[in-house]
Amino acid sequence: MKAGVDIGGTFVKFAFEENGNIKTEKILIKHYIENKDIKGLLEEILNVLKNKNIKKLGIAVAGLVNKEKGWVDTSPNIPLIEKFPISNFFEENLKADVFIENDANAAALGEYKYGNGKESKILITLTLGTGLGSGAVINGKLLSGVNGVAMEFGHTTIEKNGLKCHCGRKGCLEAYVSSYGLERIYFLISDKHLSSAEIITLANEGDEKALEAFEIFNDYFSTGLMNIVHIFNPDKILLSGGIPEYYPLITKMAYSKLKGKAFPLSIESLDINLAKLGEFSGAYGALALTTQEEV
Ligand SMILES: [Zn+2]
Repeated sequence: MKAGVDIGGTFVKFAFEENGNIKTEKILIKHYIENKDIKGLLEEILNVLKNKNIKKLGIAVAGLVNKEKGWVDTSPNIPLIEKFPISNFFEENLKADVFIENDANAAALGEYKYGNGKESKILITLTLGTGLGSGAVINGKLLSGVNGVAMEFGHTTIEKNGLKCHCGRKGCLEAYVSSYGLERIYFLISDKHLSSAEIITLANEGDEKALEAFEIFNDYFSTGLMNIVHIFNPDKILLSGGIPEYYPLITKMAYSKLKGKAFPLSIESLDINLAKLGEFSGAYGALALTTQEEV
């Protein structure tokens, strides 16, 4: 059997494949993160995996992954996992081949293999949620980068000396195009602190300020899309995460604004759509790692 594991800050999600059938499951692990109990966390994951005769295991994890060492170098969401030799731990305990990858990169591979990105030549996936995750699959192969840190699109600069990003830099695209970005934009125009979920609800009800916040959000987002389209000339961009899920209009808004910004030829064959795999995209992607090569 093959398995994919997506290690997040709240849940660990699994995808198991046997004879072409895929099953998913998830476990709540927030308490291990809060108690800084890395051993407990890994033992719990191991309990789900053991006795299943797993020959190949893919691991997707939030953070900058060092594949040579088989660990996560830096992970803002799960700091306790940093520099712990995760790949070794599972290799030794399961006697399986282990492949490790950043969760957003893995998610792109998941959509390519099992979701809405099938047969796409150049697929870009963007997750607009707590942060801005991104991944690319080019001619069927994951773009991982020499050190595994390619496609940190959220941390490209969109505004010189702009708002502070969670990564510590200023003016990153993520500082605007993410749930916390939306909350800041809304605050700047209304002087009110609302959660992104509240802003989305208001926008769906036609509230003027919330719609204005989404216009500004989309201005940054569509410029980000223009940058990515001018670099990759993709045929498909798939959006996932809480923002497009609860405010799907953003897909149309972004495409229409992008049309006025990008080279016409670069968007002639482009489809911007919603991703398919939702919360299990990382687990599917981790599973897909067990059969993929990289570019
Ligand atoms: Zn950043």
